[in-house]
Amino acid sequence: MALFGSDKTSEKKKPKKAEAATPKRLIPEDNLAELTKFFEAMKEPVELVVFTDPRQNAPYNAFMESLCRELAELAPKITARFEPLESDAAKLHGVDFSPTLLLAPDRCKIRYLGAPLGEEARTLIETIMRLSLGQSGLGQISKQLLQELEEKRDVMVFVNPSCPYCPGQVAHAFHCALERPDLVSAMCVDSSQHPALADRYHVGSVPHTVINETFTSMGLLPEERFAVELVTLKSAEDLLAEQRAAGILPAEGLDVREVDIVVAGAGAAGLTAAMYAVRSGLSAVVLEKNVIGGQVALTPVVENYPGFANVPGKRLMEMIAEQARAYAEIHEGEGIVEVKIGKHVEVYTDRAVYVAKGLILSTGATWKKIGAPGEDRYFGFGVSYCSTCDGYLYREKKAVVVGGGNTAMTDALHLKNLGVDVTVIHRRDAFRAEKHLQDALAKEGVPTLMNTVVTEIKGDENKVTAVRIRNLTDGSEREMPVDAVFVAVGLSPNTGLAEELGLTLDADGFIQTDRGKRTSIPRIYAAGDVTGGARQIATAVGDGSTAALSAFEDLAHPYWKKTKTA
Ligand code: NAP
Repeated sequence: MALFGSDKTSEKKKPKKAEAATPKRLIPEDNLAELTKFFEAMKEPVELVVFTDPRQNAPYNAFMESLCRELAELAPKITARFEPLESDAAKLHGVDFSPTLLLAPDRCKIRYLGAPLGEEARTLIETIMRLSLGQSGLGQISKQLLQELEEKRDVMVFVNPSCPYCPGQVAHAFHCALERPDLVSAMCVDSSQHPALADRYHVGSVPHTVINETFTSMGLLPEERFAVELVTLKSAEDLLAEQRAAGILPAEGLDVREVDIVVAGAGAAGLTAAMYAVRSGLSAVVLEKNVIGGQVALTPVVENYPGFANVPGKRLMEMIAEQARAYAEIHEGEGIVEVKIGKHVEVYTDRAVYVAKGLILSTGATWKKIGAPGEDRYFGFGVSYCSTCDGYLYREKKAVVVGGGNTAMTDALHLKNLGVDVTVIHRRDAFRAEKHLQDALAKEGVPTLMNTVVTEIKGDENKVTAVRIRNLTDGSEREMPVDAVFVAVGLSPNTGLAEELGLTLDADGFIQTDRGKRTSIPRIYAAGDVTGGARQIATAVGDGSTAALSAFEDLAHPYWKKTKTA
């Protein structure tokens, strides 16, 4: 449902004072029929309670009020109540920020601080439905984990409207609050609308989650890990590593599933591979360690994917995922732990063993670091690799983008568009980005510092305050005050699994494949960024389809058997 998507349109939908004076419909005409039908399935009524104070955040108050009013008009089972911030009801519920939205406060403790702009409108709609149906939305394992909870948990998730990862983390928090309304409260805080609270918790990147004031985690976690951290207040990574080391996660007892093709990674290449595999007559499952979308989902705007003159990366990936889901299951948060190749290709995860005939690795790539002192120390506190996620936090502040490729240009343009005072720093005298993007950067008047490198990222106890830069032409060094550093210096392929399997890599560390995307080991294929090349969405899609078609061909006529008998 493309309601207030994370695109340029949603940035433009940010309420302005004029809109507050003459509110027009927020729910797009195109979505009305779809939403009305969606809400027809509601069972129990759900009350939305909006608290506002006209002296605070007026444009956002108007947005929140209009949205809730429109939802109530749309669905007979939704009611909206409007209370002043100074009311007894506000005191009763401990509400002191305008606008605040409580969902069914008689039944659970779920609230939004700040109007649910952009992506968060979806979590609101989803949560209303879950409340109405009495379903928490948690998976079985997470439900079991939550049953063990004995103490109160107060969860705050800080978000930005254009962050592609935020709604997922908010959904986890809300699902837990629905599952254990007796002990879990969950709050979605829009950092751009409540900068004071974001500052108090040193939010420098989103999603940023704080549990019981003390336990902090950054980024979107798979649901079960979120549940583990909520219950234990310990990092899931550490706990899982401890358990694996102690042999507590045995392969025995895992679900065993037979499938023709396992696809590792749900980016453009993996999703296309799954579609093509199933359309060829094979069964397929996509296992994604994190969330659907890969690098494309983090690209603010894509302008070079044929058929789409201008589309937000996240939106494009949602469309591809929706199409892929019609063919294959996509499991988010299910990373591959081990692969054994014998009679079958056995793929192990923490949840199941997939007994397959082939494996397509489309594990993508991860951002590279510049390696400057301070880069790790201030990650999440001013150092970011995702302008789509974190750009909002630095509106009307100073930021630098480091890099000279397409990502650096796209990020700089996005930041400029948000109102960030951005400068691009590049180590050479020429950019390698497409001319079209370079021209756009010049047209927008984004300053550039060429032949310059960042030698150190400096900051105070909580956040970045400056970068130290060196001019490579004359060797001079100086300090430049900044609030954020967006690093866009390229990607490293995620070849961990490939290396464990012993696949041949090329000189640049990418998985080596033939024209059919076959790797050095029969029945294992690779597609997309992990194989290097042009690293475009169009090439990833091409790779995915090629790999799947090769797998289909090979399973029908195994070339490795022919070679043996030749
Ligand atoms: P990229 O094309 O590899 O560019 C990386 C940039 O970072 C280069 O300018 C490089 O400098 C610089 N760099 C590398 N290491 C550095 C370091 N340690 N310190 C300072 N600078 C450093 O990476 P990308 O821009 O992320 O793009 C990756 C791939 O995705 C490319 O194939 C790109 O075309 C594609 N992509 C496409 C789009 C689009 O078409 N809309 C958008 C994003 C990405 P040098 O130039 O000196 O090597």
